[in-house]
Amino acid sequence: QVHGHGGVQFQNWAKTYGCSPELYFQPTSVEEIKEILELARQRNKRVKVVGGGHSPSDIACTDGFMIQMGKMNKILKVDKEKKQVTVEAGILLSDLNVELTKYGLALANLGAVSEVAAAGVIGTGTHNTGIKHGILPTQVVALTLLTAAGEILECSEGSHADIFQAARVHLGCLGVVLTITFQCVPEFYLQETTFPSTLKEVLDNLDSHLQRSEYFRFLWFPHSENVSVIYQDHTMALMGWALWFWDYAIGYYLLEFLLWVSTFLPFLVPWINRGFFWLLFTSKGEKVDLSYKVFNYECRFKQHVQDWAIPIEKTKDALLELKAALESSPKVVAHYPVEVRFAQADSILLSPCFQRDSCYMNIIMYRPYGKDVPRLDYWLAYEGIMKKFGGRPHWAKAHACTRRDFEKIYPGFPKFCSIREKLDPTGMFLNTYLEKVLY
Ligand SMILES: Cc1cc2nc3c(=O)[nH]c(=O)nc-3n(C[C@H](O)[C@H](O)[C@H](O)COP(=O)(O)OP(=O)(O)OC[C@H]3O[C@@H](n4cnc5c(N)ncnc54)[C@H](O)[C@@H]3O)c2cc1C
Repeated sequence: QVHGHGGVQFQNWAKTYGCSPELYFQPTSVEEIKEILELARQRNKRVKVVGGGHSPSDIACTDGFMIQMGKMNKILKVDKEKKQVTVEAGILLSDLNVELTKYGLALANLGAVSEVAAAGVIGTGTHNTGIKHGILPTQVVALTLLTAAGEILECSEGSHADIFQAARVHLGCLGVVLTITFQCVPEFYLQETTFPSTLKEVLDNLDSHLQRSEYFRFLWFPHSENVSVIYQDHTMALMGWALWFWDYAIGYYLLEFLLWVSTFLPFLVPWINRGFFWLLFTSKGEKVDLSYKVFNYECRFKQHVQDWAIPIEKTKDALLELKAALESSPKVVAHYPVEVRFAQADSILLSPCFQRDSCYMNIIMYRPYGKDVPRLDYWLAYEGIMKKFGGRPHWAKAHACTRRDFEKIYPGFPKFCSIREKLDPTGMFLNTYLEKVLY
């Protein structure tokens, strides 16, 4: 008999959202998950599955049953010919990355952190950068789904293709993802080169930057023209080496302190942004390492974020408008950086890159020592601009959109909803976040 715990408090990574599930489960087998769903059906409870708990919103929260997938973390199969790996859905990418190196394989692209679970990552459409690369769920070639009725569906292009098209960005509302098969690539090294530039230069030469580097992204320092360009590209180097001109750790302790001081003196924020650009980002930096060690970087301390995808051709207009909005309202302060990344169009129903090459514009307000900093005016200005340019918000990150918005911005939204209603007619996998999005 499966056993759940009461009294567990769940909090996301940034400690910005939390909940108290009635019962908390950590199953070790598919049979146990089936029993939990059976119990939920008998008691008329809702169920939320959670992976790494990293989503900066309430998407993974519930007051019903919570299933934490951390013990469903095995590698089930490695197909060396096809370079595909099948894993249990709760495996953390940090573990998967290390395991893959044993087979000479790697994932072609990764987000900033890997303490996230395979099913959690795809559930919210996690992305990195690189215009020849899709968001992370495009690396999925098959998955298995346990539905509310207790049925196991094998989904891929060749089997339940419609459900597969929906389930690669599933929002946690289609059922319990049990296994995922990733298309991998041969293990590779990345060379990262960072160098300073200006917003004007980067926006004027966007196409050439995109062509010059496979994984190009840039950081803009609000309240200034400063930009840090980051190129990451395949390299043949066999030995990892890193060359840093500044001890980042010390820099970021100082940053947290100064941002905390600026909560009393907000006019300091533009100076902090400029000062840290000067300290950390004005010299050229290089490093070479295994791909996942270069893709991942430390997101030092807790933060609020928004990250919308707009059509790539709108990048320049949207960023210049955000800059103008900040210049015209000097009381609105914005922490650095605005991180600008790119991803290729795909055909996943709820992918922010559905049918269009996209630019993601991630804005941030840190929470120095856990203290919230006013962000409403910045958030509203940003959201207004994103909406104007046809933006689609990141599913994991806080946004104020509802079904009415999503029906306008996602051609496949009705199809996703009808698939969900068929798979989960009683709404077992819903929560407050999903009700807002789907109704
Ligand atoms: C420090 C930090 C850095 C980040 N960097 C990036 C980045 O570079 N790019 C980016 O796009 N995003 C980024 N994110 C966001 C992050 O990638 C997403 O929030 C991702 O979904 C987190 O994965 P998780 O395993 O923690 O998912 P969770 O937050 O645990 O869950 C996410 C969703 O998946 C569902 N779910 C999880 N497992 C299952 C399952 N087995 N079956 C069914 N549903 C399931 C949950 O119910 C929920 O709806 C970052 C977040 C943090 C905190």
